[in-house]
Amino acid sequence: MGFVTPRTLASDYDVIVVGSGAAGGQTAYTLALEGVRVLMLEAGRRYDVAESPMFRTYGEAPLRGTGTPDKPFGFYDATIDGGWTVPGEPYHSASRAPEEQFMWWRARMLGGRTNHWGRIALRNGPYDFKPRTRDGLGFDWPIGYDDLAPWYDKVEMLIGVYGSNEGLENTPDSPEGCLLPAPAARVGERLIRQRAATLGVPVVPIHRAVLTRKLDHQRIPALLHPGNERAQRLVAADMQARSACFWATPCGRGCSIRATYQSPAVHLPPALASGNLDIVCDAMAYEVTLDARGKASGVRFVDKTTGRHEAVTARAVVLAASACESVRILLNSKSAAFPDGLANSSGKVGRYIMDTVGSDLEGQIPLLEDLPPHNEDGAGGSHLYAPWWLYGRQGRDWGKGGLGFARGYHIELGTGRRMPSADTGAHLEWLTQGSYGKRFKEDVRRYYGSFVSFSGRGEMIPNEHSYCEIDPHARDQWGIPVLRFHWRWSAHETRQAAHMQKTFADIVDTMGGKVVGKPELDGAKAIAPGGSIIHEVGGALMGADPKTSVTNGWCQTWDVSNLFVTDGAPFPSNADKNPTLTIMALAWRAADHIAQRLRRKEI
Ligand SMILES: Cc1cc2nc3c(=O)[nH]c(=O)nc-3n(C[C@H](O)[C@H](O)[C@H](O)COP(=O)(O)OP(=O)(O)OC[C@H]3O[C@@H](n4cnc5c(N)ncnc54)[C@H](O)[C@@H]3O)c2cc1C
Ligand code: SF4
Repeated sequence: MGFVTPRTLASDYDVIVVGSGAAGGQTAYTLALEGVRVLMLEAGRRYDVAESPMFRTYGEAPLRGTGTPDKPFGFYDATIDGGWTVPGEPYHSASRAPEEQFMWWRARMLGGRTNHWGRIALRNGPYDFKPRTRDGLGFDWPIGYDDLAPWYDKVEMLIGVYGSNEGLENTPDSPEGCLLPAPAARVGERLIRQRAATLGVPVVPIHRAVLTRKLDHQRIPALLHPGNERAQRLVAADMQARSACFWATPCGRGCSIRATYQSPAVHLPPALASGNLDIVCDAMAYEVTLDARGKASGVRFVDKTTGRHEAVTARAVVLAASACESVRILLNSKSAAFPDGLANSSGKVGRYIMDTVGSDLEGQIPLLEDLPPHNEDGAGGSHLYAPWWLYGRQGRDWGKGGLGFARGYHIELGTGRRMPSADTGAHLEWLTQGSYGKRFKEDVRRYYGSFVSFSGRGEMIPNEHSYCEIDPHARDQWGIPVLRFHWRWSAHETRQAAHMQKTFADIVDTMGGKVVGKPELDGAKAIAPGGSIIHEVGGALMGADPKTSVTNGWCQTWDVSNLFVTDGAPFPSNADKNPTLTIMALAWRAADHIAQRLRRKEI
């Protein structure tokens, strides 16, 4: 088994997994190591992390590596055949109003967006699973924190996450032995920590999926796969092949030494080594087929290399193509039994899609000017962050005496003297009054590293106006109907964005700095466009009632017992915590459940 083509497929797969990113990678890993025969269908091309251009300098790239419309995150960004637009694969917004647009970032490569994600790996806290109980808004999850905690532990130990336990409210500590040590904070981060404390904002080590040291291959595999010696051996061998980070190269280009989590660096190698995983790349899935009993029988897909339509069968199907794409496949899988799309008897497929609330502000800090040259490279992204600190003013009291909005946000920091790029030294006129020549060079050195940035990442409450559906007028290059998005923020989100701006400006002020531009206190203007934070979840919500939800707490669709959705689509809420660690924990838990039910011949 291994990489196969539609011509060399086997005929006896237990499970088809659609997608190879965080969700598909985790699902296939767990199933394959549990002895389940898996076929993975991936729409993008085959990719090996060894391809990473991690050691190139910006000067070696066209336009000195700066972002372009087809490479918005820069020339060397790891994304292949993807981005805000994918040629031949359109999507649309139903409204023309600027504030009702939805942006959809897609990757089309083995490993999906895990090849260039930010690697921030935060656990949801207990409140995040029961938000409606707490403030009467949105939906509760049918599971609680304690149900998922053992799988958070496993994911952290497998992929390698650095961080610390701080005992903060709704910001769970990990059990001893799960986290790797956090790296030292950078100078600017230390200054933010010191000054933010005077405002009551805690700044602590962030949790990020980067190896500060090699994983303990003698201790961890037995904890991940108790009683499964073969899996332990395979995982131990693979852990030894991963190196620790050397803190010098931009992680968004991918990491050829496998020091950061990417699905093709962590999930797929041991799954392939088990002999239980086959992967077809360039396979664009578009329909789940049903048998006469109403069970999922397989998947139809387009072989992008030939344009031919193919079909494959298995005992169970898992959709893990990213939240909105899995919704698209469900809605396109129409039959007499499901005229409105598969597993859609509730009418909720596509409903309640969510992104993260985002707003940014930058400051210039005189205390950080003219620092002596020193190396601040570290991990791609900040080493510290500020978890939400105002839970005490929330809950049912968000309106009266509270903040005027429910839920909260965390703050991601940007500081440091990173590898200079094409725009290092640009936009300094407001500080230099337009210097040039020798004086300009002195000014660039003086201000280099004196800027700090703050990115708020907050919770959006699901609403009736944010959903996706099949566009009746548009198809992609293979004739597959595409999605049309409806999007609206509520006042909870826009007020939260205004609060972010005020907080960031206050922190810059306590640092003795100046805000670049001015804080935008009109939340509707301060908030980033829907989808642009690339944390889209929802569309196939899990719940306790088949009439109002699409899956149960095992990511199993209510309507079709051998059909599962293990990406972000089943999220009933989108906590401020970045979603990917939770996607993986849910996927591992669901895959354990599938393996158990297959063994008992229940599916
Ligand atoms: C720049 C950036 C930074 C980010 N930073 C963070 C962060 O710091 N922390 C965090 O938690 N999250 C972050 N994210 C979000 C994170 O990448 C996603 O939450 C995560 O990758 C979702 O996993 P997934 O498996 O659902 O989707 P993906 O990783 O997108 O994988 C889906 C896979 O399915 C394939 N596919 C799609 N459609 C089909 C089809 N029809 N047939 C077959 N295959 C298909 C795709 O090609 C892709 O390989 C970031 C994302 C980006 C882009
Ligand atoms: S900083 Fe570390 S994790 Fe990131 S690409 Fe470089 S070696 Fe890999």
